[in-house]
Amino acid sequence: MLRRQFLKRAVTLGGAAVATTLPFSGHADPARLAQVQRSAKQVAGFAPDLDTLRRLASVMLGPLPTELNVVRFAESHRKASLVLEGGDPQRKINLARTAHQLVYPQGSVILDSGMDEATHDYFGSSSDPFYMEKYQRLQQAMRQANLIVLSHYHADHVGGVVTSPYFEEIADKVWLSSDTREFMVTTPHKASIEICRERTERFIAIDFDNYYPVAPGIVAIKAPGHTPDSKMFYIRLQNGQEYLHSSDTGWTLENITSGKMKNAPWVKEDREALKAQFAWLNTLMKEQPNLIMINSHDTPSYLALRERGLLGEFRI
Ligand SMILES: [Zn+2]
Repeated sequence: MLRRQFLKRAVTLGGAAVATTLPFSGHADPARLAQVQRSAKQVAGFAPDLDTLRRLASVMLGPLPTELNVVRFAESHRKASLVLEGGDPQRKINLARTAHQLVYPQGSVILDSGMDEATHDYFGSSSDPFYMEKYQRLQQAMRQANLIVLSHYHADHVGGVVTSPYFEEIADKVWLSSDTREFMVTTPHKASIEICRERTERFIAIDFDNYYPVAPGIVAIKAPGHTPDSKMFYIRLQNGQEYLHSSDTGWTLENITSGKMKNAPWVKEDREALKAQFAWLNTLMKEQPNLIMINSHDTPSYLALRERGLLGEFRI
């Protein structure tokens, strides 16, 4: 019910965002993918307008979320030389694998779906921890949520939907951009999360310009760079607390503050777009000290924000 309300409002907004569902047919659309790649290249200057984001956070009817929660369902331990250009190969960086939950008086929204243990095993070392109880908590939270929002097509973000034992139950409330859906079908990030087009047709696939108010207090920001379909999220709680979820723009906040790109050979990114995004995020951190920067994989900020009560434990 609630999700239908979100959708109905979204398509009547006009101006701020345009909601359309692309009429995908049975095969990959190379022209469409080329177009997405081109648009990724065009974001040399990345400057989302904070006032617009704040306004859009309140255009959806209904109360703002009261809590932002996080679950860390796994970790990935990598050499700093892979995480940061020029990083010390002797230094290990512990990357958290997370998903977030916005809690409303009337329901909840989940931001990214994690991945199951079999998909986790495709990444990094086999000794990297996977917290099954936390992952099951995330799965239960997705069953209870009104909406499940996916930031980009990578396995550690969409795998929890694709391999979910509750797929039939949750598929209708999966929100993603049309290009994320297309990448999931045509270029699955890992073999364990291959999905046929028919199964993705139940998802809510949106095509939008720049910003999209997904639900009260959460605005998607188009941010191609890490992948062509990447998004960041502006979040505002009822108590006025603001967050910027920088997603995978940097694997760590250190990438962003030092301006050092990721350095893993398997990661193909648009460096110019990322540089522009780093610049914007650094400006925000300097000029907006009350806006909290969060990130999919940064362990120090995950631990500090949990400690300070600025990110809570997932509710189910
Ligand atoms: Zn990721």
